[in-house]
Amino acid sequence: MSASTATAVLHPPEDAAEQQRSSAARETAIPSIPDRGRRLSDKLGKLCQSLTLDLKQTVHARRRRNLPVYDFGLGETKGFLSPIIKDGAFQAVSREDTFYTHPAGLPEARRAVLKWLSLTGVYSEENVVISGGAKQCLLNTFMALCDQGDVVLLASCPWVSYAPLAHCVGALPQVVRPEQPTLSLKTTAVDLERAIRANPRSRLFLLNNPCNPTGQLYSAAEQSALLEVCVRNKIFFVLDRLYWRIVYNGAFPEPVLNDRTLPWLIQIDGLSKNFRRTGGLRAGWSVAPADISAAMTNLQSHHSSGASTLTQKVVTAALNADYDDEMVRDLDSKRKAVEKLAGKIPLIRALPTQGAFYSFWDVRSAVGKKTPDGKVLASGDDVARYLLDSHGIVTAPGSGFMEAGFLRLSFHIPMHEIRGGLEAAARAFAALV
Ligand code: PLP
Repeated sequence: MSASTATAVLHPPEDAAEQQRSSAARETAIPSIPDRGRRLSDKLGKLCQSLTLDLKQTVHARRRRNLPVYDFGLGETKGFLSPIIKDGAFQAVSREDTFYTHPAGLPEARRAVLKWLSLTGVYSEENVVISGGAKQCLLNTFMALCDQGDVVLLASCPWVSYAPLAHCVGALPQVVRPEQPTLSLKTTAVDLERAIRANPRSRLFLLNNPCNPTGQLYSAAEQSALLEVCVRNKIFFVLDRLYWRIVYNGAFPEPVLNDRTLPWLIQIDGLSKNFRRTGGLRAGWSVAPADISAAMTNLQSHHSSGASTLTQKVVTAALNADYDDEMVRDLDSKRKAVEKLAGKIPLIRALPTQGAFYSFWDVRSAVGKKTPDGKVLASGDDVARYLLDSHGIVTAPGSGFMEAGFLRLSFHIPMHEIRGGLEAAARAFAALV
């Protein structure tokens, strides 16, 4: 039963004109009565589980059935936890540091974030909000900035959860695709300017640099040009820099900080990618103008009371220590191995990885080909399914990143699994006709 029928049944109108008048009055004055049988909100009713977390379940299911698995699926950092992180956790427990904290986080944790990002002196504690992962920072950001119907502009190949999180706050995600497609699939300042003009309700532009899934790094000039467009148009530039330590040649391009840019810049980062085995610790942080951080803090004071105290102690320990780039060096050798092996695989073109730990493959030349058992691969998703079913190669299909015809492979896995998986992939693609 719709809201208006429900009310009409309660108050039968005398004639059609009266019906119209009373229905108009109802629309404005009386809050609509929800369908009694309705279970979920429009915002969450269409939400599916995160594609990449789903892949983890696929891997577990295959392992349980003793089926072969080459797990290039979930982008999770592996290996051993650093002794500094372990010690931070042990000490917090042994000192019983388990009280509620300030909803924005412990002051020492917020100071550690500023130190880690070399932002001490530019920002103060009131600009930092510690959350339960970068995901929560993103939701805080969207909640703080967007009203129903506002537009969230996403750089091309957006990470899987950006659009669902925008939908959760009633905003409309729009991918800013490059007008001139290039090998790197990057969004340019010209593309962004055009998108803002086409979407007057744009509130923010979200860039992930280095980019998951493409492994591309926007240069200082490219990033500055995008930031400049945002500042000029008075929209927020949200920089998700979650993989910023994992850059292979050169360094992460820090955003330009000055009186013009600071009011429009929000940076999001976390523990999950730059350290080993830290995804499940659920720690992220945002650095934003004070009014935006205050709004996020108010929100956190209601929805979570902030991040877990133990995690915040771990964050403080990890970020105050000197960064050990052992993992980055290990990933660099894996990146080189992936590039060499991928170069021998027919029908694919791998983008050269510049940052993060993903190899992004254009598999459009395999679409339309037939598998050995006679099935035609109709899409990039079909290619991913074929690799999984035929050889146990788990990949994340590009459709999850709004770029059908591509596959993302996470190479944060042991070298022997990389070699075995990519040799199997070479056989799988060679078998297509
Ligand atoms: N942003 C990007 C680009 C990511 O790849 C991820 C996780 O994969 C997140 C945000 C969320 O990170 P977290 O696990 O810290 O919530």
